[in-house]
Parts: sequence; structure tokens; C-alpha cells
Amino acid sequence: MKGSVREVVDCDVLVVGGGGAAAFAAISAREKKAHVVMADKGQLGKSGCTPNAHGGMAVGHLHPEDSWKVHFEDTLYSGGFLNDQRLVEILCKESLRFIPKLETFGAIFDRDQNGKYRLRTFGGHSKPRSVFSGDATGHELMTSLKREVVRRDIPIFNEMMLLCILVDEGRVTGAVGLDKSNSNLILFKTPTIVLATGGGVGCWPAAAERQMGDGYSMAIRAGAELVDMEFVQYHPTHAWWPYGVRGSVSESVRSEGGQLTNSLGERFMKKYSPKRMELSTRDFISICEYREITEGRGSKHQGIYLSVTHLLPEVVENRLRTVFNKYLVYGHDIRKQPMEIRFRPHYSNGGIFVDERMESRVSGLFAAGEAAGGVHGGNRLGSNSLIDLVVFGEIAGNEAALKALRQGHVGRINWDEVEAENERIERLIHGNPKNGIRSMPIRRSHTEMMDLYMGVSRNELGMKKMMEEVERLKGDLLPRLHVADQSRRYNYELIDTLEIFTRADIEELAIRGALMRKESRATHYREDYPKMDNQQWLKNIVFYMENGELKHRFKAVNKSMLDPEMIPDFFGSDFPWHEDETYIG
Ligand SMILES: Cc1cc2nc3c(=O)[nH]c(=O)nc-3n(C[C@H](O)[C@H](O)[C@H](O)COP(=O)(O)OP(=O)(O)OC[C@H]3O[C@@H](n4cnc5c(N)ncnc54)[C@H](O)[C@@H]3O)c2cc1C
Repeated sequence: MKGSVREVVDCDVLVVGGGGAAAFAAISAREKKAHVVMADKGQLGKSGCTPNAHGGMAVGHLHPEDSWKVHFEDTLYSGGFLNDQRLVEILCKESLRFIPKLETFGAIFDRDQNGKYRLRTFGGHSKPRSVFSGDATGHELMTSLKREVVRRDIPIFNEMMLLCILVDEGRVTGAVGLDKSNSNLILFKTPTIVLATGGGVGCWPAAAERQMGDGYSMAIRAGAELVDMEFVQYHPTHAWWPYGVRGSVSESVRSEGGQLTNSLGERFMKKYSPKRMELSTRDFISICEYREITEGRGSKHQGIYLSVTHLLPEVVENRLRTVFNKYLVYGHDIRKQPMEIRFRPHYSNGGIFVDERMESRVSGLFAAGEAAGGVHGGNRLGSNSLIDLVVFGEIAGNEAALKALRQGHVGRINWDEVEAENERIERLIHGNPKNGIRSMPIRRSHTEMMDLYMGVSRNELGMKKMMEEVERLKGDLLPRLHVADQSRRYNYELIDTLEIFTRADIEELAIRGALMRKESRATHYREDYPKMDNQQWLKNIVFYMENGELKHRFKAVNKSMLDPEMIPDFFGSDFPWHEDETYIG
């Protein structure tokens, strides 16, 4: 043990995170007989998005007219054809295998009187293919996965925030974590890491407000590449009013027949998407809502109405129980009154660039779940994430374990980097810089500005303004950050402050990508370039770091299985393009 490090943990595989992807990766690595350890910034089963996921899990081809290929095509159309087709193929082919596996773990999915799975159709899916557990599917999934982690005696470091990944000659050698219970550093010595740290929408005013993109920042600083970082999904139905009820309203509400109306009582999706109506994709409905609100047809509190009053009361009470009860607490009975909702930030479509084994270009560094990029392209389909977690969590866990067992520990620990992390923590707690500033005002103002300038509708002027704020943050504010609370026990001001460093990276990546992409596609809608430009922009933007400087390259999209150029309607079309949708210019 050296200097500032209070504990050294040796393992074959370090899984970072405590959500669905992390749990599945840990279970799979353990099945391969690797010594796997988990480290979670929160607590396994309670942190991250997975336990909050509501509506369903797209397992594919249970419906007689469905097949993995139909699911594959739906996923590509939704992603604006930026998806990595190799990964989408794996997702859709493998998905069905996971229902029995999850059931042996104790998960229960809703079935009808004949014992068949009930299926929901989520927006953009052309067939009903999502299994569900009422509107608490994520809770069901996470509870069963947590049981399996505990049953297998996998050691877990809860309340452990990973700060950086250690690399020697392009290979993982370990990672440094901050033990939140005492603010001490822990060194994990490991040849492989699975980053399952979720997304970065917490940099926007999202319901998942602790998803700060730590994994993206750690990965790119360790030498990995990030892809499609400009694509941030807004979910069209977040509870908006009464104020206290704010948070996601599951897409299962629209799947069960929920209707969107404006202040004139019109089902406005009729004019934008006459066939799919409320079951169009999230990116498209969000833009339609934006259009209705900015043109003066929004609700009383600048939202939109979502109504289930026409459904049978027992459907609302039983199948939409979570949202029904959530509103009831505020004296609002959704069986009788419409909800006031609005589009809000929800999901990071981009992420760590990985191959089919979920390994990044840093040897031994794997990623899974929302932390990984490529599968969903520019816009994820509803219910495609929960299945992504298990499919790719399993692959990442297996592959990391095999690699670790094959190669063992390699390379040296860079103690200078460990010491630099220690100095950063001590400087924040004990330093008292001239003109010192605290994290909260930055967190508040940047969150709001990201919504305003990097939100559902973007333009060059706004994005450049936001970029200036990020440059000021990086150049002037970060060195002046300090923490007023000097205690070492669960110092949440310290955690908030460390997240400002990460935020600066995530904001810069998203804005740079969005400024570069001079077109509108999937979740990236530009007022100044409202059309999709397939001649110029059927490519991914990939970021990496070289000598501490952020660089990018363009990558041609993988068209190995379905070439959008062969679909005339797609190639010559305006944004947004979905079968029956009309153009918004
Ligand atoms: C309200 C809501 C409803 C949703 N409903 C659905 C749905 O019905 N169907 C669907 O498919 N998808 C749904 N989603 C999306 C889906 O839930 C998420 O994309 C998915 O759960 C992400 O899983 P994950 O394992 O990748 O990350 P998460 O479950 O978000 O877990 C990330 C983990 O990483 C940990 N972590 C982060 N940083 C660090 C660090 N520095 N050190 C250590 N640990 C760290 C966190 O503590 C957390 O445990 C929903 C999302 C939300 C917010």
C-alpha cells in the first residue's frame, strides 16, 4: 500500500455500477469462474435508472408476424441508420433467450388467462414485442438480478465512486475509487474493467439526475473512443404538473392507448403522424410537442395533455399502477382528468465505442448498457434498453472474464496518477482558493442552459453560447472549485463537486458533436438545418483524446446488413423520416 491509498483490492474483473448491465455482467463473469468485484457509486439495486424503468423489455419475435429481422429494421429506422448493425443484429437475435433466463432468476412477466405473455407495442416498434411487469418492469428485473448477485457471493463495494482508470501501454491495470463513507481512496488492481455506469442525462434537467456520465469521462481519459455523443433523447411524456409529481410517465401509458391533446382539444399527432399517432418514436413526438407549445397550443403550464380517461378504470388501476398512484398522491385522479406532461431529457444514445465483444480500443476496458454506444444510433426505441442491458451485460462479463483468466495481471500501476487523484480530493476539501466557488450554482445554471441550448431543438447561435460557458467552466471555474463541508464522512458536496469535472467533459462532447452535425436526424433537431442530409451525414462522429486534447474522426456507418441507400424513401427524404410521418420544416 502506498501514500494516500488505504486499501488495495485485487480481482480479475472489476464491474463498475450497480444497475442492470453491471449486475448481469458480474453474474456472467462469475459463471466463468473469474474473481469479480463490483463497485457502485450508490447501492446495488437502488442506484441508476434500471430500478426506475417502467414499461417493458423488447424481447422480440413472440408475436406470429414478428422476427428478429423486423426488430432489427425498426431499431435502425429509429436510430436514423447510425446504429452499428453488428451490435443491433446481436441484440435482436439474442433477445428471446433471456426471458427463460430471467425467469429462472425469479422475474415475473405479465401473462394472460392462457398463460401467454402479454405484449406491449412501444413507439416505433412495428409489432407488439415488449414483455412487462405492470409498469414496474425495471424494479422486477433489478430485484431478481440483485438476488443472483447476492446468491453468488459477489463482493460489492457500495457507495464507491470510481474516479479514474489506470492504463499501462494501452492495457487496463486498475482503477481508483473514492470510498464515500470516509473519503479515502481505494486502489483496484485488475486486468479488466466493465464500465456499466449508465448515461449522462443528469447534465440536463432529467429525472435520472445522478446519471452524470462518469463512465464516458473516465473512458475517454483512459484512451477509449466515444461515439454519437450529440444524440440525447428527450422522452415526450414526463409528468409536468402538479409540480410535485414531476418525473417520467411510462411509455406504457401510450402503449395502453393514452392520447395526446393540445389546448384546443386536438389529437395533434394526427397531423404529424396519421398512422402511428401516439406510437410514433420519442424523438418525433417530442419535436411535435415542442411545435405545439411554441405555437401557442400548449397546456396551461406550457406542457401538453395526456389522457387515459377513455380507458377502463381497471386498466389504469392495474396496468398503469405506478403512474396512477403517483398522481393520486397529489389528488389528481388520472381515470377522470388528463395529465399535464412535457418532453424531458431521458437517455444518452451515444457512448463508449465498443466492438462485438463490448471491448473498447483500450485492451481490457469493456462497456455495457447505457454506458456503451453504437447499438441505438441516434435514437433508442422504447423498451430496447432493458434488453440491451442483459444481452450486452452478459457478453461484456463473459469476455472480460475470459480475457482476465487468459492473460492475468499485466503492466504497472501508475502511482503518479493515483497521487494526482488524492491531491485533487485534498485540494477540494482543504484548499481555500482565492475567489473560490462552490459547485451548486454551476450545477443549477449549466443544467438549465443545457436544456435551453442543447435541448430538443438546437441552433448554431445557442450552441456556441453554451460552448463559451463550457470553455469558461474548464478554463476559469474548475481550478477555483472548493468544498465548504470539510467532513470526510459521506461528503455529498465533494461528490457534487467531482461531478462538475465530469459534466464539463460531457457538455463539451455533446456540443462539439452537435455543432459539427449540420443536419437534423433522430434526436438531433437543428432549427438552422431542419433536413436530414444523407449525402454528408450518414456517418458517426467519434471522439478520442490525444496528449490531453480532444480530437475527433468520422466513421462511415456500418451498412453490412441493411443499406439505407437501397431505400429510396429514406435516402431522398427530409427529417424526420418514419413511414407515414409528415415533414416538419
Ligand atoms: C424513469 C425511467 C423509465 C425507463 N423505462 C424504461 C423501460 O420501460 N424500458 C427500457 O428498456 N428502458 C427504460 N428506461 C431506460 C433504462 O432504464 C436505462 O437505460 C437502463 O436502466 C440503464 O441501465 P444501466 O445498467 O446501463 O445503467 P443504470 O441502471 O443507470 O446504472 C448505472 C450505475 O452506475 C453507477 N455509477 C455511475 N457512475 C459511477 C462511478 N463513477 N463509480 C461507480 N459507479 C457509478 C450508478 O450508481 C448506477 O448504479 C427508463 C429510464 C428511466 C429513467
